[in-house]
Amino acid sequence: MKNYDIVIAGGGMVGSSLALALAPLGLRTAIVEPVPRASGQQPSFDDRSTALSRSTQRMFEATGIWDAVVAAATPITNIHVSDRGRFGFAHIDAGEQGVEALGYVVINRVLGGVLQEALAGVADLDILCPASIEAATPGADGVTVTVGQQGDAEDIRCKLLVAADGANSAVREMVGIGASKVAYDQRAIIGNLLPEIPIRNRAFERFTDDGPLAMLPVADGRTGFVWVVAERDAERILALDDAAFLGELQEIFGKRLGRLTQVGKRSAYPLSLSKAIRLTARRTVLVGNAAHGLHPAAAQGFNLGLRDVAALCDCIADARDEAGGPAFDPGAPDLLARYADWRRGDQQKLVHFTDGLVRLFGDSRPPLPALRNAGMLAFDLVPGIRKAFARHTMGLAGRLPRLSRGVPLA
Ligand SMILES: Cc1cc2nc3c(=O)[nH]c(=O)nc-3n(C[C@H](O)[C@H](O)[C@H](O)COP(=O)(O)OP(=O)(O)OC[C@H]3O[C@@H](n4cnc5c(N)ncnc54)[C@H](O)[C@@H]3O)c2cc1C
Repeated sequence: MKNYDIVIAGGGMVGSSLALALAPLGLRTAIVEPVPRASGQQPSFDDRSTALSRSTQRMFEATGIWDAVVAAATPITNIHVSDRGRFGFAHIDAGEQGVEALGYVVINRVLGGVLQEALAGVADLDILCPASIEAATPGADGVTVTVGQQGDAEDIRCKLLVAADGANSAVREMVGIGASKVAYDQRAIIGNLLPEIPIRNRAFERFTDDGPLAMLPVADGRTGFVWVVAERDAERILALDDAAFLGELQEIFGKRLGRLTQVGKRSAYPLSLSKAIRLTARRTVLVGNAAHGLHPAAAQGFNLGLRDVAALCDCIADARDEAGGPAFDPGAPDLLARYADWRRGDQQKLVHFTDGLVRLFGDSRPPLPALRNAGMLAFDLVPGIRKAFARHTMGLAGRLPRLSRGVPLA
């Protein structure tokens, strides 16, 4: 039976980033991933564009891939937030925050290519793909993991099993961690288009009664959009031809970018909030969407997942340093408890913030619209509020692990 220190279930955005972050520690690691990265069915590395926060940038700097990521990414220097049909709006500006960019937008498929190339150079890493985890049996000194690959099943052993297998995590269920899931009755329609007025380095978020619409700068002067629509309208909107689709989008967004033209292929994602009731079980931890699946309104799901990765790596690196070398137990109960204690606060804050944002802006009953206006004006007029908010969305609030500060593990 093959023995590993760590087995990572899921080689998506978070699982791949974790394997790369662990590389300097010289541990024997395996990723188990059912869908090859280049497949059109890959659920993580698809056509979506992701806004990367400052803490994610620092983490990618520390793991040595930032130069490749930034070469394919577009910086955001200004964010404009508005509420459809009301007068209030708010700005966040990179200069005011003393940073060169508030975040960077990268296409998931492109990020997947960068991660895969970097992983090819990692010693002691096995990537089992296409393969999936069929059973996980944690014991006192290790976990037996049954891996299904091309019709065969094989058992492997590890000291620590990491569930990075997404919001519907099978591993989470296998180790007996329950999760709550609440559907928002909304779908996010994503794609890109060409606006008459170049978006340059600006991002827009416009709240409507049915959900937010985000416009993000992507490569080649194009604008990526994430348009959240009510579930009852989703099929109709997806079936519209290009002109009719752009017409409806234009009506919601307004004229800030002039006429919207040349819309590309659209895809849709049903939206829900999922939360694991615990972050650890015996010799098992949850990271990324397996721990928390958020609404994309605040563009924070992946960034939050990477802070899970950074904290877990910190706990593992500390345990290794205390043991004076690689002969240590990465699945020890006190290490897992430290990870769970560390991550609970940040995760709960972001879950409440994102869910609260969706519910606040989705509610048109008085006096909420008036309060939203007052809130956005206050937000725009009082720099202190803006600064605190920007620090949270940049992922720089609270106690930060080494990687989120840009400090390599070794
Ligand atoms: C429309 C939209 C826009 C978004 N925009 C942003 C943004 O701008 N910024 C941001 O920070 N976040 C954003 N997010 C959230 C972000 O996409 C997710 O948080 C992120 O993809 C989570 O990564 P993950 O690796 O944890 O899970 P996933 O991306 O779901 O990957 C899970 C992986 O596990 C694999 N897997 C599944 N089952 C098994 C199994 N049994 N065994 C092994 N592997 C398995 C899957 O094939 C997949 O590769 C957005 C989400 C949506 C829907």
